[in-house]
Amino acid sequence: MSWEQPAPERAPEERPNAAGADRETLKALVAAQGEKSFRAAQIFEGLYVHRWTRWDQFTTLSKPLRERLEANVDLAWPAIQESRTAEDGTTKHAFLLGDGLQVEGVHMPYADRTTLCISSQVGCAMGCVFCATGQMGIRRNLSAGEIVGQVVAMLNHHGHPAGRPVNLVFMGMGEPLHNLDNVMAAFALLTDPKGLAIPPRRITLSTSGLVPGIRRLGAFDPRPRLAVSLNATTDPYRDSIMPVNRAWNLEALAEALRTFPLGKGERITLEYVLLKGVTDTPEDAERLASYARRLPSKVNLIPFNEHEGAGFRAPDEVTLDRFCGVLVRHGIPVMIRRSRGQEVGGACGQLVRGLEED
Ligand code: SAH
Ligand code: SF4
Repeated sequence: MSWEQPAPERAPEERPNAAGADRETLKALVAAQGEKSFRAAQIFEGLYVHRWTRWDQFTTLSKPLRERLEANVDLAWPAIQESRTAEDGTTKHAFLLGDGLQVEGVHMPYADRTTLCISSQVGCAMGCVFCATGQMGIRRNLSAGEIVGQVVAMLNHHGHPAGRPVNLVFMGMGEPLHNLDNVMAAFALLTDPKGLAIPPRRITLSTSGLVPGIRRLGAFDPRPRLAVSLNATTDPYRDSIMPVNRAWNLEALAEALRTFPLGKGERITLEYVLLKGVTDTPEDAERLASYARRLPSKVNLIPFNEHEGAGFRAPDEVTLDRFCGVLVRHGIPVMIRRSRGQEVGGACGQLVRGLEED
């Protein structure tokens, strides 16, 4: 299967680019300009604390240095190409990357926090049949800088005030465990106390169930929280909608989750997309409850977000309530995650696919 091969990486940029760079890269950049290494720390702060996007904003640096940087080093963040805001305040953004490809991210303002949904790859190799991104196939991995760049661009676009909490979910395009090196390099930048300083517990990585990746992730400390897209409760049906299940079935996945080292009070989120008449039956709810009960988990129910060519429908409200009721009766912590911004294509891959079709 295509996820067994590493996804292609982004081709090297022609000029050095400071946007999304880590400390080591910035040290090398300033050394190449004949400057002392403390300048790298100043640039790091400008990039990730102030979220500056032009060299002339870097007033902590001397004017000659700013001019040298302007002449020699790019400051090219992913550019917001198109944004669509829904009535509930959710904004879906399409980002244009340096090589002309696109990914998407979603900004969701809540009373007490902002949640950002970001992409980890251009397209996805996992081939889930209900998913708009899966239908694109895989183009390439995002670099760590491109992952962080989505966050910086969305916070700047929405004028995010300092101190307001940010939650991040890797639930946009791509399978983050198929790009774990870059995702964890981005995680280090996102959580850096002298940078964006997003607490690790506010970052959630969602996977379709790549078991070797789950094991690798478990060895990182700190690491993001884990969510797993279950979406079906029998192997034959999960095989048919999520090809990854043919390599690691429900039992292999449960074993990897049981042995995943959790912090105190931490639970794994089981995501379950409800497909009308297919995965929303009372029997599914019972099987989901018994799967969840065997694990330190909580369940997120996600009504399917309809998109063209999907061949699936969203469940009706009564069925959704009944399904949820079964889990509640079994004592499973459960949340219904209604797609925010449905009219702008609230689930992953739908805005970019829409743009490509325009
Ligand atoms: N690749 C990772 C993360 C991105 S997908 C994963 O699969 O977990 C994020 C979530 O969106 C997954 O739970 C997936 O099942 C769900 N999803 C994909 N298409 C959807 C749709 N059309 N409606 C609702 N949820 C969808
Ligand atoms: Fe990839 Fe996740 Fe979509 Fe499956 S649901 S194709 S893993 S993005």
